[in-house]
Amino acid sequence: MGDNKAVVLFSGGQDSTTCLYWAKERFDKVYAVCFSYNQKHSAEIDVARKLANQAKVDFQLLDASFISSLSKNALTDASIKMDEDNNCPNTFVPGRNLFFLSMVAVYAYEHQIKNIITGVSEADYSGYPDCRLNFIESATKTINLAMDQEFIIHTPLMNLDKSEVWALSDKLGVFDLIREETLTCYNGLIGKGCGHCPACKLRNNGLANYLTLKKGI
Ligand code: ZN
Repeated sequence: MGDNKAVVLFSGGQDSTTCLYWAKERFDKVYAVCFSYNQKHSAEIDVARKLANQAKVDFQLLDASFISSLSKNALTDASIKMDEDNNCPNTFVPGRNLFFLSMVAVYAYEHQIKNIITGVSEADYSGYPDCRLNFIESATKTINLAMDQEFIIHTPLMNLDKSEVWALSDKLGVFDLIREETLTCYNGLIGKGCGHCPACKLRNNGLANYLTLKKGI
């Protein structure tokens, strides 16, 4: 199994792009796996492909469209209005990371990749259960038992808030690239986005905090 190889769960957003460059610093060979699951904004996939090419890593799109036939949510169903109240995000897709991690582990198995990297974080508001460390630890155990492997699932952003994710991208030398070319906005707008969806608010508040901190240094 390739100890020096890593695969990143990659969406072309701020978090996974930071993870991609974090991985490039640590591993000899990096792969980016992106999922299509009938996202409202297919631009996301084009952005991910372009960023992966720019980073000179292998890009693989995997079809996870079965997810949209299982559950209705605001990320895949155009008839559901995006919830702008952060208390109960209707952007939750039940089981999404469990599916994604299982699929990416099969990909890793086939390509002899030992390291799997995901940009999940439990520091931010969202409270998605499949972004928490206890889930990742449990998933690692389950996947390794299922495939008789010793995959390591890395979560470099687990305890970082958005301002600290910006700091990390700066440290990795990709602050401007991530600020201008990644897509986090639920309304499909690159860079600073629409400014009012929950993802934009989180991203832009984190950026403002980071820039304030940086000025103070
Ligand atoms: Zn937005």
